[in-house]
Amino acid sequence: MNLGKKIDKLPFYITRILRAASLVGDQRKIRVFLVGGGVRDMLLDKRNFDIDLAVEGEGIRFSQLLQQELGGEIIKHSDFDTATLKLSDIKVDVSACRREDYAFAGALPRVSPASLEEDLQRRDFTINAMAISLNKDTWGELIDLFGGRRDLRQKQLNVLHSKSFIDDPTRILRCLRLKVRLGFKYSSSLKKLLSQAKEKELLRLVNVQRIRDELILMLKEQEPYLQMKELNFLFGLKFIDESINISNKDLRLILNAQKTILRLKEKSLLKRELDEWIIYMMVVVCNLNKKNLASVLAKMRLRRGEEKRIVDSHRKEIVRQLKTKITSFRIYKLLKPLSFEVIVFFYVKEKNRILRRNIIDFLAKYNNITLNISGKDLLQLGVKPSSVYGKILDALLKKKLKGKIHSLTEELEEARAILRRWHFY
Ligand code: ATP
Repeated sequence: MNLGKKIDKLPFYITRILRAASLVGDQRKIRVFLVGGGVRDMLLDKRNFDIDLAVEGEGIRFSQLLQQELGGEIIKHSDFDTATLKLSDIKVDVSACRREDYAFAGALPRVSPASLEEDLQRRDFTINAMAISLNKDTWGELIDLFGGRRDLRQKQLNVLHSKSFIDDPTRILRCLRLKVRLGFKYSSSLKKLLSQAKEKELLRLVNVQRIRDELILMLKEQEPYLQMKELNFLFGLKFIDESINISNKDLRLILNAQKTILRLKEKSLLKRELDEWIIYMMVVVCNLNKKNLASVLAKMRLRRGEEKRIVDSHRKEIVRQLKTKITSFRIYKLLKPLSFEVIVFFYVKEKNRILRRNIIDFLAKYNNITLNISGKDLLQLGVKPSSVYGKILDALLKKKLKGKIHSLTEELEEARAILRRWHFY
């Protein structure tokens, strides 16, 4: 099958890259292929914003030659002789075709240079193991050694061999993710392998940080609720930590979070892009006690800012106060230091009407309010820097939140009045 015509119909910012890869390959007499999800999505007529190239030669070197044609910035990954060429609108991964051997289940593979055919054999699913030749004489030719096209037609997932999950158990999570994303089914042989994987508890053999990366990818999908539902149904989450147990009610929180985020965005109540996956992760760990949470987070090794937000999502004393009628100033003081992810999580998790009102008031009104006055202004009013600054600014903020002062002039006037009342003058 030749997909040359299909390639020509792709957006120009993609075809120009494939043409450049073709040119470099021909000039250097290197076979070069489009591989992976890009081929799958092209056959499904879906958009894919990543380009994966495999070359029968040196990956990093090829990316440098491609850079000479296209510009952009290269990030090298020397271990596997791969590189990412970052262009303004798209990223291109270039890898040397390789063979992989696994010393034991869950181990990182030992790799050695190989032909395209061997490279395709190391891949996860038939629908991800197709390639399209980019060299001029074979431009557009589809290489499908494992029945990828058949599986796409039958809307099913299949691995390439029965030891695939043993070699790399993270493929189990990739399998669930792809199944849910594409709305496919598992082939009958794959179903058997999944239940064997469960019996043998293969997911427990993998380093938790690799599991974390796959879990985050699942939570970043279009339908995190369906992703987690599938995972919880087939494997549960105890392979991450014995203490993680999520119920159907918790799962529905993920769905509610998805809907709430959408609504808040529509109403323009969020002032920046959310890391939505963190909110879903908060749900996954919401039932853990402090000790178990600390141990899960220690294993996962998230980035510091991500971990901090998840820890904040457990701050029950804030939730308790938010459930009571409190002043605008108190709401501000409680919520301003928290990230939007934590605030949205509280909103979704707690059905309490007062808490929800307080949060919406904060997002719609108070969050936008800041003082114009600064320490420098207070100095000019004759106040020496000390803890009194904080007290004056708080008093001003209270008034501003109540809508009693607006401009810098009014703030300065009010600051003078406060100082008089406090016998500074
Ligand atoms: P997505 O649309 O999610 O990016 P993708 O298929 O492009 O899907 P990548 O993670 O970018 O996924 O991987 C690119 C390709 O590398 C896959 O299509 C697959 O062929 C191969 N691959 C990735 N991870 C594995 C793995 N754990 N085992 C075997 N092959 C893998």
